Amino acid sequence: MPQPSHRMPLRRIAAEVGAGRRSAVSVIREACAELIRSENGPGALNAFITFNFEGAEAAAAAVDASIAAGAGALPLAGVPVALKDNICTLDFPTTCGSRILANYRSPFEATVVRRLRAAGAVVVGKTNMDEFAMGSSTENSAFGPTRNPHDRERVPGGSSGGSAAAVAAGFVPAALGSDTGGSVRQPAALCGVVGIKPTYGRVSRYGLVAFASSLDQIGTFGRSVEDAALLLEVIAGPDPFDSTSAPIEAPQLAESLEGGVQGLVVGVPREYFPPELDERVARLCRDALERLRAAGAEIRDVSLPHTRYAIPTYYVIAPAEASSNLARYDGVRYGVRALGAESTTSVYEETRQLGFGPEVKRRIMLGTYALSAGYYDEYYGTALRMRARIARDFTEVFASGVDVIFTPTTPSPAFRLGEKVGDPYQMYLSDIFTVTANLAGIPGLSLPIGRVDGLPVGGQFLADRWDEATMIRAAAALERAMGE
Ligand code: GLN
Repeated sequence: MPQPSHRMPLRRIAAEVGAGRRSAVSVIREACAELIRSENGPGALNAFITFNFEGAEAAAAAVDASIAAGAGALPLAGVPVALKDNICTLDFPTTCGSRILANYRSPFEATVVRRLRAAGAVVVGKTNMDEFAMGSSTENSAFGPTRNPHDRERVPGGSSGGSAAAVAAGFVPAALGSDTGGSVRQPAALCGVVGIKPTYGRVSRYGLVAFASSLDQIGTFGRSVEDAALLLEVIAGPDPFDSTSAPIEAPQLAESLEGGVQGLVVGVPREYFPPELDERVARLCRDALERLRAAGAEIRDVSLPHTRYAIPTYYVIAPAEASSNLARYDGVRYGVRALGAESTTSVYEETRQLGFGPEVKRRIMLGTYALSAGYYDEYYGTALRMRARIARDFTEVFASGVDVIFTPTTPSPAFRLGEKVGDPYQMYLSDIFTVTANLAGIPGLSLPIGRVDGLPVGGQFLADRWDEATMIRAAAALERAMGE
């Protein structure tokens, strides 16, 4: 059977559609037919909150028409993409996986969405997520959990679980998510796909619903390093609508993909290989490092001594920022409003009581407490100081001549649905290897490095700020070495 077009590498889809050998409409039809078949009925992955077959087909027809009219080469011509449902679009609701925004439609479109469409991509739908991106399993969605395509009794990770599952299941070749503490890399690892979290400021957050503004970055999912990198190239770069987007042009990553690791120094931080790490995950990491060495890299032991404070630091800063960002959902301006309320205060209270799920409420309480007058310096202030030390650990390692760092992405493969929902602390520990990159603002990438009991395991590369190119070079080289 010929390979379905939506399973081909992005470059190939764009080349075929651009040259008129296939129509964007036919690519979208193949993707949507499969999606609709698998997303309805028992055992559905529930990767999407909304999808729109007719809308996608119309958008694809517009791409075909612009190509026929001589639009020239578009890097993502006819490529079906899915967006996490906290990225604002005009043609779909944007729910953030929350009841409070169940009927919300944004009056504007996110910068990343405008860039995707300008590159010829076709948005097929909005993917499921933990409510307001708070979680590591997609079980905190008001629209039911997403299942892992490799084992439907297991979680896909989170909070961008829907995007990761949609790519892993082959519904779409590429998707966007957001990563505040690991929400692109962790689900990429658990679903066996590639996920990139760029340097903070690399990609505009305009139109990304804020969770923790100093940590949030939009990231990309693909089936290969090349696909995830190509998507990043399209969405990256300065944006006048986001003052935290840096005035640095989008990286050109094509050369990095071929660069190889000859002479590259790969740092292996001992704090990311604790004795309690699943031995099978540790073994796959050692195998990956062996391949990098065989391909010409120098492997060097390094230390990031403040790693053990990363989870408590993150779980003060992220909820503090969230408690402030989520204050706007009061039933007045956005989304759902509780009916029958008797006063302004009771409108706020009832709307928030009914609209938010338990994890979001927990974060708002944690964050409000950490920011309250008597505790501000003790909690929030301490966390900010610790964040600076965690960032300095990385700066020192990179200044010592290390080009990239390699670690496991998660401590274990996908866990069972329901296994950790009752134990928030265990859930928080799923991000133990990913939150540091957000705290330090550096880029991170997860790629599949093997399987344990049939379940995918991810390895993570971290690089210095703005050095996505080296991170992608190392990841592409490892991917190649594993394919040989
Ligand atoms: N799992 C982490 C949290 O719950 C990270 C979430 C994210 O990156 N959006 O906060």
